[in-house]
Amino acid sequence: MNHTSFETFGISSEILKALTSLRYFNPTAVQESVIPLALKRQDILVESQTGSGKTVAFGIPLCEQAEWEENKPQALILVPTRELALQVKNDIMNIGRLKRIKVTAVFGKSSFKTQKSELKQKSHIVVGTPGRILEHLKEGTLVVDKISSLVLDEADEMLNMGFIEQVEDIIDYLPKERQTMLFSATMSSEINRLASFYMSPDRASVKMESSIENTPKILHSYINVEEAAKEKILLDLLTIENPDACIIFCNTKDVVDGVVRHLDKADLPIDKLHGGMDQDDRLDVMNEFRSGKLRYLVATDVAARGIDIDNVTHVVNYDVPFEKESYTHRTGRTGRAGKTGLALTMVSENDRTRWQEIREYAFDDNHEITEVFAPNDRVVTRAKAAFEKKIKTRIAPKIARNKELNKYITKVYFNGGKKKKLRAVDFVGTLTSIRDISAEDIGIITIQENVTYVEIMNGKGPYVISEMQHRKVKGKALKVSKARK
Ligand code: AMP
Repeated sequence: MNHTSFETFGISSEILKALTSLRYFNPTAVQESVIPLALKRQDILVESQTGSGKTVAFGIPLCEQAEWEENKPQALILVPTRELALQVKNDIMNIGRLKRIKVTAVFGKSSFKTQKSELKQKSHIVVGTPGRILEHLKEGTLVVDKISSLVLDEADEMLNMGFIEQVEDIIDYLPKERQTMLFSATMSSEINRLASFYMSPDRASVKMESSIENTPKILHSYINVEEAAKEKILLDLLTIENPDACIIFCNTKDVVDGVVRHLDKADLPIDKLHGGMDQDDRLDVMNEFRSGKLRYLVATDVAARGIDIDNVTHVVNYDVPFEKESYTHRTGRTGRAGKTGLALTMVSENDRTRWQEIREYAFDDNHEITEVFAPNDRVVTRAKAAFEKKIKTRIAPKIARNKELNKYITKVYFNGGKKKKLRAVDFVGTLTSIRDISAEDIGIITIQENVTYVEIMNGKGPYVISEMQHRKVKGKALKVSKARK
């Protein structure tokens, strides 16, 4: 257990207060190494696993360094997937919330126009996937002349996914005078090449050695199965294991569909996630799984990377992954935050060679991997009652980490926006004319076509709403209420 406190980094009180509200009391090992270097604006190459607290490690320095008054983006974070973009956005917004830091996420398969309009408004930090970031750069809708920090998150995965050219094109748009931080779970010659091309020669290197504390506690096991018996054995194993929350990984979306169809017959609280789905559907499913509404998620590798969900007790590889690295990423979804998780891989006759390669790649001699066997029907029948009881029990909703933080902040709705030619300055003008309300009490302002949302800080939301009932914004009387979402 680490006893250093975040105060030793000399960061501002708004960020310290947010960290406490988020229940981050002591820095993790990677945070302890990275934060002081990042605050000195050094370039840093970090080898560290997801789950080590790396988002907070770069999030704190970025929020600390961001200047609120500057309207143009000051930091750019590149991530491999859309889900991760949203997750990083939320994590950093939470850290910077009391400093009123606005983070905008941009990614593909989502409205370019909406993103363009968001980027036009104040955005201190932009996080996105390489393809869409590059489109915005080409269109001139992402302004980068004030970018002073670049973060490449999950760099190994961005390279695996073939984003290298886009990443390099993006870097060419950025000011040369900047800080660059690269985070990767694994180092390779390609990553070192990127680092030597685009980072300072005196960059710092941080390698988080695995220690008992930061190694995920995962019990690895496998089962040899006949391809044709996989569906039945899966359900039998789930019945016996009776997991609280489980991700079942398949190699293709067709297999995902087949497994869901089969498990649906058992009436499980289940849904699926794969790249062929609509972005909104993907986010809804992730949120339902994260909140505990779904106990089972059947997914392709889109769910394997970076996604941070506490309390996944079981990961099942219904298929042996095609890529060796995927095994580590998939199983890394469990055993997080000091809890023990169970990983089980189903190995059919066609997968034996690939499984052997993965074992050689992922495990050294000290790692135990246990062979398990298909349960017999008697054992399964005996386990059934407990299994059925659990799948019918609603999971208590998890308390969002930022609940405490949100207590200080009220999102206020106004029924007028761009169409009425309203701008942020009009809202700030009216709101600061209220007694005891200053610019410091006004958080993120989001102006849409017909509506505007303004965050009111420091618990002053209800007071502002009541005062605004008889005030106008730029001469216009608007309906004002607490925002519903
Ligand atoms: P990451 O490596 O960014 O995926 O983070 C892993 C998890 O650790 C996330 O759930 C964070 O909310 C959590 N976390 C990050 N920093 C801390 C901290 N200092 N104390 C407790 N939890 C943390």
